Amino acid sequence: MAWDFSTDPEFQQQLDWMSRFVREEIWPLESLWRELGLEGLQRALEPLKREVKERGLWAAHLPVELGGQGMGQVRLGLMHEVLGTSPIAPLAFGNAAPDSGNSEILALAGTEEQKERWLHPLLAGDLRSAFSMTEPDTPGSDPTQLRTSARRDGDEWILDGRKWFTSNGSIADFLIVMAVSNPDARPSQRASMFIVPVDTPGVQIVRDVPTMEHPWESFGSYGGHAEVIYDGVRIPAQALLGGEGDGFVIAQQRLVPGRIHHCMRWLGVARRAFDMMCERATYRHAHGSLLADKQTVQNWIADSAAEMQAARLMTLHAAWVMDTAGARAARTEVAMVKFYGARVLHDVIDRALQVHGSLGYSTDLPLEQMYRFARAARIYDGPDEVHRQSVARHVLAAYAPPADGVPSEHLPTRRERARARFAELLELVSAND
Ligand SMILES: Cc1cc2nc3c(=O)[nH]c(=O)nc-3n(C[C@H](O)[C@H](O)[C@H](O)COP(=O)(O)OP(=O)(O)OC[C@H]3O[C@@H](n4cnc5c(N)ncnc54)[C@H](O)[C@@H]3O)c2cc1C
Repeated sequence: MAWDFSTDPEFQQQLDWMSRFVREEIWPLESLWRELGLEGLQRALEPLKREVKERGLWAAHLPVELGGQGMGQVRLGLMHEVLGTSPIAPLAFGNAAPDSGNSEILALAGTEEQKERWLHPLLAGDLRSAFSMTEPDTPGSDPTQLRTSARRDGDEWILDGRKWFTSNGSIADFLIVMAVSNPDARPSQRASMFIVPVDTPGVQIVRDVPTMEHPWESFGSYGGHAEVIYDGVRIPAQALLGGEGDGFVIAQQRLVPGRIHHCMRWLGVARRAFDMMCERATYRHAHGSLLADKQTVQNWIADSAAEMQAARLMTLHAAWVMDTAGARAARTEVAMVKFYGARVLHDVIDRALQVHGSLGYSTDLPLEQMYRFARAARIYDGPDEVHRQSVARHVLAAYAPPADGVPSEHLPTRRERARARFAELLELVSAND
């Protein structure tokens, strides 16, 4: 019987190296991020990227033949737990969202020409990409309602529509756009994906939408969420990614593993907040004792430790199912950890912030920023409610109403059946009385 929670020693060494490297080389850059700007940050990251490549850890999410490491989801998950401790670390490891997911899409569905033109430069860090699916006027949680259209005109496609929350859209060189190419097809086959260079006439990057995470008006910064208008955008037939009508199939292939990586990165963030909470408890003295001695704080620490452990094991288990049985088989496990992990992330940061009082609320600590980041986790890659619904549906599929309409565990009915079954025994017992 195989039941093993250990990490093989060789990979553990890589994880130990990554933990040290991220903490010593990348964490210090975090506080200078805004000052450095994107270009400055890229310069600072160049030597670090070289080290990562030498170590064989660059673009680890991709198969070996495309310059990745072909690690499988469990190893990738463990790696993302380390990288998740810093919002910058994925950039140094060639697997920052959304480029990582987009490179997976190109690797999965791209033609040789598309890989040559877009994937290889993306992996080399020479191009940036964005994924443009969500629209302000239709529910992102039900993308079968998408309205952005793709109309065939001879050797070209013409795109029309409005998108928003196209992350990194304002700094991207190309966009992967989901559009309805056949409104009469079955809902799951209506949409296709297209590669659209941002400088194509008709593409208008309207703004970066200010959000809870970036509340100030800005344009063209890393991590911005662009609103984009596609107004009669003409692209060649070769811009179609995968087959016509394959948009949702490709999106699922990208999103399922991507969710596991999100969940592991959240654990990295939660761990950092947890460490801050525990450190604070050891020195803040109030009302006659340390915070560490107050039962409420002890409960928060114990609950956080237990919940993080649960989320970690659930995530690694989902990764294992994916490695052993494929992404489709892991859909329920992944949906479960997506909403559970997002809640754990939020709750741990919330408690850590509370333990720090006004310091936690201030920008002198990274907790308020983590808190704002955590709120989005319940929305992107599918809102919690949709994942809960799909888990519940899967669970309920194994149940049916009782044939006689009486609950299976109804005690009087069970007792009656047991009496009939053990009548002889009961008779014997009462005869001996
Ligand atoms: C930080 C961030 C980054 C993002 N990056 C990208 C990106 O790069 N590219 C991109 O295309 N999109 C991106 N998005 C958009 C994201 O994918 C959508 O916001 C998400 O899919 C939800 O769609 P919506 O906002 O239209 O909400 P809606 O679909 O309108 O849903 C609103 C709410 O309705 C409720 N609801 C919906 N369905 C159900 C249900 N079945 N049962 C019960 N309640 C339900 C939920 O509470 C849900 O939150 C990003 C979003 C965020 C916050």
